[in-house]
Amino acid sequence: CGIVGYVGDKNASCVILDSLRRLEYRGYDSAGMAIDGADGIEIYKEVGKVADLAKLVEGKNPNAKRGIGHTRWATHGGVTLLNAHPHSDRNGQFALVHNGIIENYMDIKEQLQREGVAFKSETDTEVIVHLLSNYYDEMKDMVEAMVKLQETLSGSYALAVIRKGDDRKIYCVRRGSPLVLGLGEGETFCASDVPAFLPYTRSVVYLEEGEIAELRPDGVTVWNSKGELVSKDVHTVEWDV
Ligand code: GLU
Repeated sequence: CGIVGYVGDKNASCVILDSLRRLEYRGYDSAGMAIDGADGIEIYKEVGKVADLAKLVEGKNPNAKRGIGHTRWATHGGVTLLNAHPHSDRNGQFALVHNGIIENYMDIKEQLQREGVAFKSETDTEVIVHLLSNYYDEMKDMVEAMVKLQETLSGSYALAVIRKGDDRKIYCVRRGSPLVLGLGEGETFCASDVPAFLPYTRSVVYLEEGEIAELRPDGVTVWNSKGELVSKDVHTVEWDV
């Protein structure tokens, strides 16, 4: 039960693995990451420890500069590879990680299945990525799609999402689950908790309920749940872990 994200110039898989290790204290049963590959978004996941995920990723030696990572504490669906995050939509346009619980996922899932969406997992999370994909195709705007997403979902969530073709951006939103942003020099982070990225930066932006963020190497832009721009204070973390 931890989320991380990185966009910058470093090897994203290395930063993500390092950050996931720093969140291990939160407890989890599976770990995964999504990063940019030569032919689109690549997803790596394992049941077990971050060390197992590291072995899988090392064998492939990816060199992406953007990605998201997750440690899962299963709430809906067993501890299986298919249920591990990240999850993706039907054409692999999006990859998404989620901490929390979607309370109305059954209704949404049944509706999507009636529309012909095939589900790969038993998680509550998977409805989010299919919905987001539909809303994005309709609106062609990530922030508008995330506003609509929040109108549909009930429950708790911290989300980090990447979209194919948008390879210098990560989108985040949180409600009821924690998510913080870290601003580095030419690199930006998100995580469930500050220690995940503390070795890289001490400049932190805290997201309020329902806030939506776009992360780029040069900084972040934040909107409220209605899609209105909000200006955020940057806090300097003085403590160490
Ligand atoms: N409810 C989601 C699942 O069971 C996310 C769990 C978590 O927060 O790690 O996959």
